Order: sequence, then C-alpha cells, then structure tokens
Amino acid sequence: MVPNDETLFDKVVNLSKRRGFVFQSAEIYGGFRSTYDYGPIGVLLLRNVKDQWWRSMVQMRHDVVGLDASILSPPAVWEASGHLANFTDPLVDCRECGDRHREDKLVDPSTCPSCGATGTLTEARQFNLMFKTHAGPVTETAAEVYLRPETAQGMFTNFANVLNTSRKRPPFGIAQIGKSFRNEITPGNFVFRTREFEQMELEFFVPPDDSDEWFEHWCEVRRNWYLDLGMPDDRLRLRAHEGDELSHYSKATSDVEFLFPWGWDELEGIANRTDFDLRRHAEASGTRLEYLDPATNEKYVPHVIEPAAGATRTAMAFLMAAYDEEEVRGEQRTVLRLDPRLAPYTMAVLPLSKKPELVEPSREVLGLLQPHWMCDYDETQAIGRRYRRQDEIGTPFCVTVDFETLDDRAITVRDRDSMEQERVPIDELVDHLRARLRT
Ligand code: ATP
Repeated sequence: MVPNDETLFDKVVNLSKRRGFVFQSAEIYGGFRSTYDYGPIGVLLLRNVKDQWWRSMVQMRHDVVGLDASILSPPAVWEASGHLANFTDPLVDCRECGDRHREDKLVDPSTCPSCGATGTLTEARQFNLMFKTHAGPVTETAAEVYLRPETAQGMFTNFANVLNTSRKRPPFGIAQIGKSFRNEITPGNFVFRTREFEQMELEFFVPPDDSDEWFEHWCEVRRNWYLDLGMPDDRLRLRAHEGDELSHYSKATSDVEFLFPWGWDELEGIANRTDFDLRRHAEASGTRLEYLDPATNEKYVPHVIEPAAGATRTAMAFLMAAYDEEEVRGEQRTVLRLDPRLAPYTMAVLPLSKKPELVEPSREVLGLLQPHWMCDYDETQAIGRRYRRQDEIGTPFCVTVDFETLDDRAITVRDRDSMEQERVPIDELVDHLRARLRT
C-alpha cells in the first residue's frame, strides 16, 4: 500500500509521464502551464471513463437522450445564464511575491500560501473565468464570442428542439460529454484543475413538485457509478453544500468527493437548478421553454437536476485509487488495479520470443481478440519485464504464445492481480476471456 499523500501523487504523476498517460502540453517548447495532452495509454483510459458514463447515463436508460453542442457561443447565452455577471472567482494578489490566489481557497485569509508573508494580500476583486475570443476577421465588440465554461447551457438552449424531436416528456434528461474552458486563477494538482478540461453533464427535466425526489435519486445513482467502477467506499463521499456555498442558480447541491492525496475534493456536483436556466433563456430569447402536460392540460417550466462530472478529473481519481505496489519474490511490482472496463488495454498478446514461428500465431491470436477488446501487442524484451509493463498500465490479462503453442494450439492467460497463469486452447480463448470479464 502506498500512503495516500504526496508519495502517491508523485508516483502517479511520474507513471503518467513514463508510460504515456499524460504529457505536458507543448513540452518541446518548455510546456504550456496547466494544459495537458493525453498520450496513447491515457487516451484509452479517458475514453473508457467517458464510455462508461455514457453507457450508464444514456444507453442503459429509457429517459435520457444525448447531445453534442458547440463550444463557441454568443454573449447572449452567457448574459441570460448569469455567467457574465456571476461566473467569477475572488482574486487576491500578494504585494510581497506577486502571486495570485483564489480567496475562497485560502486556508488562512491573512497569509500568502506562496511566500508565507502575512498582511500582504490585496482586497479581493471578482475575476470572470470565461475565455473570450472573436469570431471572424474583425475584433470589434459585435464579434465577441465565448468558449463555454460548462456544457450545460447547450442543453438548455436546445430544450425545445429536443422536446419537439425526441418524443421524450418530463421526467427526461439530455446528456453531453465535451470540452469546457475556464480561465482558472490557480490551476494545479496535475490534471485536477486545468484551464481546458472535459465534462460529462446531464440536465434532467422534471415536474417542479418532484424535484427533491429526483435530486435524491441522482445523488444515489451517481455515487454508485463510482463505487461500481471500483472506487473504494472509504475514499468516496457525498457532501451537501452549506447555504452560503450554493451557486447563484442552485436550490440544493451535493458534491461527490474523492479522498485525493491532498484531502477530500470534488469529482462531481449534483445540483437542483430549479427552473432558473429555462426561465432566463425564455425571457431573454422570447422562445417558450415550457411543457404542456396533455394529461392535466397543465403548463409548467420543468425544474432541472444536474449531475455535472469532470471526465479528466475523474480519470485521474481512478488512477490514484488503482495505484498499488507490492513485493513479489523480493522484487517490487507496481500494478494499477483498474476495473477491466476502465483499463486502457483489456489484454496484451505477448509472443515469448521474437522468432517468426511465434510471431505468426501471436498475430493470429491478436486478430481473434481485437474485434472484442482493446489489445496491446508487444514482442520486445524479456517476458517478465513485459508483464511488469502491462501491470503498470493496468492490463487485466496477458496472453502469452510460447513454443508449446505450436504443438497444442493453446496459450497462457496471466491474471494481473493474482499473477496466476492458466493454459487455454486458442479456439476457446474468446469465450474463456468473456466469461472471466463477465461481459
Ligand atoms: P471548483 O469549485 O473546484 O472550481 P466547480 O464547483 O466550479 O469546481 P462545476 O462547475 O460544478 O465545478 O463543474 C463540474 C465538474 O467539472 C467538477 O466537479 C469537476 O469535476 C469538473 N471541473 C470543473 N472545473 C474544472 C477544471 N478547471 N479542471 C478540471 N475539471 C474541472
């Protein structure tokens, strides 16, 4: 067990770089602060996190549809949503060292966390977190556009479109996964807080009287999603916001929090946004955003429950929860105990040697497995080192082709966690692995 402190943090950051999960963006130019690129292994993990979210939130439900809205939007959207006026963080400067901090995150409001000086922080000023740019060749005010700081507004501005085309009726939801951008004052903790990140958000529209019940439903569903994918119970909690913590639109909010190496911190916010957004957009756009219940002939503006999660932040939390080290026969082994549904590769095909007589059947085995699972293929180095490499990136199964395979048409399946090996006929391999993965 690795202690859940900077030791774990450093080990995960190190592994991420060494094995191709996450690279500093523009590294060859010295890096661009707070932006990261997902490498060949990281992109698979991130995709799996998003796929599992989509599967649980859209595919497995009858009452949710998907959306992929634009990232650029005109100021009118953010004027109506309240973001132009309210999407701010309180910014303080240290007169001593010049560093900037978020006042609401200071442990001691009189002391600069960078240089330790006391009484040197300026009064807070409100700093808007939205990135502004210009559409087209002119940089005049009329051409101003914003990069979305959340995906949610796309669901509100498309509410009537979806209602009219999808045959869904409240209670129903619209789900979206995509990039969001915030000009964070203090990005940091690796990919925990970045200026460009990915969100997975659901806006669930309900009759006003049912909103408390649906809020509880989504808190429960979302907490269970993390647990089902292997987050340990003692490192996950739901925390209700205090009144003064609530956002400008929210009636109630609970955060799903993970015990990071630096303490409890947010993975997802579940908010009861009431009818705030639909009402504001209806007023500002002049479009009716309401629902006429044909059964009661009652017209109402639905209330909204929003579970809003971060894909990049969650992928990092899964990495931290999965990281383990143990001693095996006097040697240290690093292993990512990721749920097979999240593991970048579900299996790796490894010929015992690079000799052509083994490479050929190995490629055949690879061809059998690839239509079903994401597979790695590696024929370099000693087999022990290749197993260690797969353990480090969390591959649940290694499939080894050896010289006996040429006689018995069987291969060895090695289990990541127990390291046990089992001989399985090639013809039964897909069924065997499917049974072990229970998919
Ligand atoms: P914070 O208080 O930490 O700034 P928030 O409460 O403003 O976050 P939300 O607006 O609720 O965050 O966003 C929903 C989710 O999107 C967060 O729980 C988080 O997982 C993710 N997220 C938000 N900001 C960032 C960021 N800068 N980098 C990475 N993920 C983010």
